[in-house]
Amino acid sequence: MTKLLEANDLRKVFGGAVRAVDGVSFSLDERETLALVGESGCGKSTVSRLILRLTDPTEGTIRFEGQDMGRMSQRALKEVRREIQFVFQDPFSSLDPRMTAGDIVTEPLAVHGLIKGRAKRRDTATDLLKTVGLSAKHVNNWPRQFSGGQRQRLGIIRAFALGPRLIVADEPVSALDVSVRSQVINILQDMQEDKGTAYLFISHDMATVKHIADRVAVMYLGKIVELAPKSSFFSAPQHPYSEALLSAVPASHPDKRRERILLQGDPPSPVNIPSGCRFHTRCPLAQELCKREEPPLAQVADNHAAACHFAQAWPMRSRVADTSAS
Ligand code: SF4
Ligand code: MG
Repeated sequence: MTKLLEANDLRKVFGGAVRAVDGVSFSLDERETLALVGESGCGKSTVSRLILRLTDPTEGTIRFEGQDMGRMSQRALKEVRREIQFVFQDPFSSLDPRMTAGDIVTEPLAVHGLIKGRAKRRDTATDLLKTVGLSAKHVNNWPRQFSGGQRQRLGIIRAFALGPRLIVADEPVSALDVSVRSQVINILQDMQEDKGTAYLFISHDMATVKHIADRVAVMYLGKIVELAPKSSFFSAPQHPYSEALLSAVPASHPDKRRERILLQGDPPSPVNIPSGCRFHTRCPLAQELCKREEPPLAQVADNHAAACHFAQAWPMRSRVADTSAS
């Protein structure tokens, strides 16, 4: 079956030297949520910009329903742009302060000539606002009159207005108060259920990822180092970097507590990527081999891939029987 989206060996080099994305491949099915996780600077936002074609890859291809986006006509590309929408991190700067809520949520329809006349636009806006729990009385309000969570709801409706097949959500809740995050995540899940949209969900927050993802891809210094279904990722991570990320998450139950793995130092610069395994300068399990040879992203269990020479050899120290992810 044709995948909804297929990224193949994507690379993005800035200024000839900064290897922000350094050979990334993944695919997404219809209705699926793939979470892309990692520390800031790992290249996950650059991947999202490549998928949205806000920037062109230096190398590699992106196929949408089997079609190479780099070889599409302008017209075909315009069609695909309707199918791939986005929700950004900051609901404050991503909404035009001079537009009313009603105009914001109907703008994509108006731009594509799918809605005509003030009255019709107002009715449609009211209907759209209701889908995310906002009422008709909000239709003439300005963005500054909404809370952060409400603003992000406006951003979500706007993203869904054209009935996209894929939404790229880049840290959609991390700028929000903790108290409203789960509401916004629930709205995203309800909308997905209702519309059948796939999500590429960029996040550094493991608790959110555990809630929303079907599969998880972990990025480190421009590469995916682990890619797995959510349940096996959370119960049996195979890459030491993933283990370190997971060990920082508070446990839901004392029996499930993972031994805290503290990584040394900051990630190296993408200008100077370490030889061999790019994680070796910070890996608590590194061996001589790791400095010389780069481990491929290889299958280690069902649908579960990791880029570590010793992925199956180590009894992972923090592996715990954690069934709450499934
Ligand atoms: Fe650590 Fe070596 Fe595995 Fe890299 S290949 S993650 S350095 S053990
Ligand atoms: Mg899902």
